[in-house]
Amino acid sequence: MEPDFLTEVQHSERHNEGVRRRMSLRKERYRFAMDMLIQHLGGKCAECGSPLDPTIDHVDGATWERRAVSFMSRVRRYYEEYRAGVRLQVLCHDCNSAQGGPHGGCRRRRPVARA
Ligand SMILES: [Zn+2]
Repeated sequence: MEPDFLTEVQHSERHNEGVRRRMSLRKERYRFAMDMLIQHLGGKCAECGSPLDPTIDHVDGATWERRAVSFMSRVRRYYEEYRAGVRLQVLCHDCNSAQGGPHGGCRRRRPVARA
């Protein structure tokens, strides 16, 4: 009985390993798709020009909560929106998290007249 039990465990461990590898491969593909989109949108922050920590931002304001969506469906949504003509831009992490902050935007940001 014991050898069989062991093979069972080893088998399921191998199985899990395969699942993990497939998952990370999928994530890699999404990361690549995200990079492509960021490069396509200019590859650097639209506010301060920094190429570090690029994120994608909705020019006219997000219609969904970024944090509530997993990385992979986020990438899919950005692509769908991009195809649908939603205006997207690249913002570095700093500028993006400064948006809506106590000062209403990044301090490096040029003042924008809002209607
Ligand atoms: Zn920036």
